[in-house]
Amino acid sequence: MPIYEYKCKECGKEFEELVPIGIDKNPSCPSCSSENTEKKFSIFGSLGAGCGNSGFT
Ligand SMILES: [Zn+2]
Repeated sequence: MPIYEYKCKECGKEFEELVPIGIDKNPSCPSCSSENTEKKFSIFGSLGAGCGNSGFT
């Protein structure tokens, strides 16, 4: 399961969220509960770094 890093546009809180495959919805901010969050990047792939981590289709 990929871990995405999000940043809240409302309060600037940065947090990580485990997002199940197929879910394309920004989580709400754990700090202010705003849904105005943006995905920064995924660290999925860096865990098993080595051979071809571009498995995103
Ligand atoms: Zn917030």
